[in-house]
Amino acid sequence: MVIPAIEVPLALEDVELLRVRLPLIEPFAAAHGVEHERDVVLVHVRGGGRDGWGECSALSAPTYTAECTDEAWAYLSTDAAVRVAASAGTAVSPDPEHPMAWCALEVALADLAGASPFSGGAAGVPSTFVIGHVGQLDRVVARARDALAEGWSSIKLKICPGFDVEPLRAVRALSSSISLAADANGSYDRAGLDPLAELEPLDLSYVEQPFSATNLVVHAQARAHTGVPIALDESVPSIETLQSVIDQAAADVINIKPARLGGLRPAYAVARLAVDHGLRVFVGGMLETGVGRSAALALAAQPLFTLPTDLGPSDRYFADDLTEPIEAGAEGQVTVPAGQSLVLPPRPERLAEVVVNRVVIR
Ligand SMILES: [Mg+2]
Repeated sequence: MVIPAIEVPLALEDVELLRVRLPLIEPFAAAHGVEHERDVVLVHVRGGGRDGWGECSALSAPTYTAECTDEAWAYLSTDAAVRVAASAGTAVSPDPEHPMAWCALEVALADLAGASPFSGGAAGVPSTFVIGHVGQLDRVVARARDALAEGWSSIKLKICPGFDVEPLRAVRALSSSISLAADANGSYDRAGLDPLAELEPLDLSYVEQPFSATNLVVHAQARAHTGVPIALDESVPSIETLQSVIDQAAADVINIKPARLGGLRPAYAVARLAVDHGLRVFVGGMLETGVGRSAALALAAQPLFTLPTDLGPSDRYFADDLTEPIEAGAEGQVTVPAGQSLVLPPRPERLAEVVVNRVVIR
C-alpha cells in the first residue's frame, strides 16, 4: 500500500500543530462508537508570508480505523510533522499506516502552495442528511420528517442488527421519492444476509459496509444474492484494496474519504479507478470541522462524484464552527466555499476558545 509522495514547498518555515476540542450540538453515534465532541489535530504550515491549514479528522478512539486523536497527535508531533518541517524544497513519502495524519499534511501544504489539486468544480453539491443512532424509532422518523420539511432529498440512516428494516421502512413511508441509504459500519455477521434481502423492496440507493472491512467475499455474496446495491467504506483503505474489490465484484458504490485514503490526490485516484470500472462514488464525512470539511468539499465538487455527499452544513454538527460556517445552499445542497484558498482557515477568536494543546516544529 503506497500513498504518493508530497512536495514540500521551499518557502515552508514551520509546522504548527493545534489540538482542538470543538463541542458537537449532540453526540453522534454509529455502530462503532460515539463522538461527544470533535477532538481533532489541525496542521498549520507557514512560510513566505502565507498560511496553509489541514485537519486530521481521526476519531477520539480507534473505532472506525486504527487511527485516533491521541495517536495522531503523538505521531504528527514526533515524526511526520518533524520530517515535513525538515524537507522544504523536497518531497516526503507518507507512511500508509497513518493516512489521516498525512491527509492533514497534504492538504495544508497544498493550501500553503496555493495549489488545489483540482481545477474548478461545482459551486454547490447535493448532500445527504445523515441520521446517527439517535435512539428510538420515533426519534429517527421525526428527524427524517424535519429533514424532508427543510428540503433535503437524500437521507441516510446509521443501522445495526436489530435496528434496520423497521426504521428504513418507516422513513421510506414518509416519501417514495427521496434517495434513501443506510450505513451499518460493518456491524453484521454472515447471518445479516437475511435482513439485507428484506431491504430489497425499499429501493435503497445503497447499504454501506454491512459486513466487516476485511471480508470482501461476503459483500460479493450479498451483491449476488440480493438486489440491494452495496457500498464500501472501511473496506477500502487504499487503491490496492479497491483493485481487490473490483476483482471480486464486491461493491456497487465506494465511499471516498480523503482522510481514510491519505489525502485529496490519493482519494481522487481511488475515485477515478472506481468510476472507470463502473462503480459510483460519493465523498463521505468524518464529522470534520470547517477546516477539513472545506477541503473535502473541494473533492466532492468534482464531476466524478455522482451520488450525494455525506458532508453537511456546519450547523448540523456545530453551534459555532471553527471557520466561517459552511452553509446549506439551495434545497438539498451544500455550498462549496469559494475563495482564493483550498481550505477555510479557522477564525482566530474561535480557535483560541477551543485549542487545548499547541506545538511549533521548525
Ligand atoms: Mg460509512
